[in-house]
Amino acid sequence: MQLTDQFLRKINYLRVSVTDRCDLRCVYCMKEKMNFLPKNEVLSLEEIERLCDNFIDLGVEKIRLTGGEPLVRKNIIHLIKNLNNKKTFTNLKEITMTTNGSLLKKFAKDLKNNGINRINVSLDTIVKEKYKEITRFGNLDNVLEGIEEAVKNNIKVKINTVVFKNFNDDKITDLINWANNKLLDLTFIEVMPIGDTDMPRHMQFVSLDKIFKELNNTYNFNKSDYRTSGPSNYYTSEKLNIKIGFITPLSNNFCATCNRVRISSTGKLFMCLGQNDFVDFREILRSDRGDNYIKDRIRFALSVKPKRHDFIINSEVKPYINRHMNETGG
Ligand code: SAM
Ligand code: SF4
Repeated sequence: MQLTDQFLRKINYLRVSVTDRCDLRCVYCMKEKMNFLPKNEVLSLEEIERLCDNFIDLGVEKIRLTGGEPLVRKNIIHLIKNLNNKKTFTNLKEITMTTNGSLLKKFAKDLKNNGINRINVSLDTIVKEKYKEITRFGNLDNVLEGIEEAVKNNIKVKINTVVFKNFNDDKITDLINWANNKLLDLTFIEVMPIGDTDMPRHMQFVSLDKIFKELNNTYNFNKSDYRTSGPSNYYTSEKLNIKIGFITPLSNNFCATCNRVRISSTGKLFMCLGQNDFVDFREILRSDRGDNYIKDRIRFALSVKPKRHDFIINSEVKPYINRHMNETGG
């Protein structure tokens, strides 16, 4: 069984936002004052699992749990355990997670014991005060200890860094040196205009095209064949023992190879991170409709998956995406 969209892209990757809540407030992701959803609007773990089951039946091989912060969702390990059990008798091959790492020290062992072998940890700076500034109140030590614990438990950690203007764009080599010392692959991400934050997007955005060219003078990059299921392009260098990835939704569109869709914590299926259209599954899951109906709606959603996002960042245009990143996750 294989899911394809209207442009014949094979869709085998599902990202699931298990909560809109988070213990941080990264300035490019959220406003300082956020209203989180009442509990009854968020899918229960059973509803999430049933939706995942239907996607898996239709050919989804990889699920990434995200949020909000997935590790603040109560009983998240229970969901992971149930999904992990499916790997032996369904299409599902891999479960991964994107986390801010603040609770990783506590959960790393449980993640590993329940089949999570790779995670992405978001980290934009390795300077304590600056970490607090970008996350509004995070504690860098928690994340660093979490990463150590994950590595100790044989979880492969990749670092994701959003490049934010006048914050870390002149500290990229410090991050590369730090990650290289720890042997952690590192991916840089361009700010995307998803939802309104407290600062206009054009004051946050830095083109990774420019950063790549600057770094290339130092590292003389070679393009790597390595790919995860995500959109990152990886490079190696004789000066480094790690791979450096670049996710460039604005400076280098990669939609032609898109293989994924996203479920929000409220059960909306977003066919594209950079568009507002969705198909709502929450009411279906809470009705007496059967799984065949759910599968029909998934197929319908894929038949209208947009060709590409229309992200644009400049001082004239207000972001057209009317939700924050914590709704659909990264
Ligand atoms: N809380 C988890 C974390 O931070 O890893 C998972 C959810 S977070 C929304 C997923 C990823 O999206 C993080 O790597 C974060 O840095 C990134 N992100 C959030 N807002 C973004 C934006 N406007 N543009 C680009 N990346 C963003
Ligand atoms: Fe929370 Fe992740 Fe958004 Fe930061 S990027 S506020 S950690 S959801």
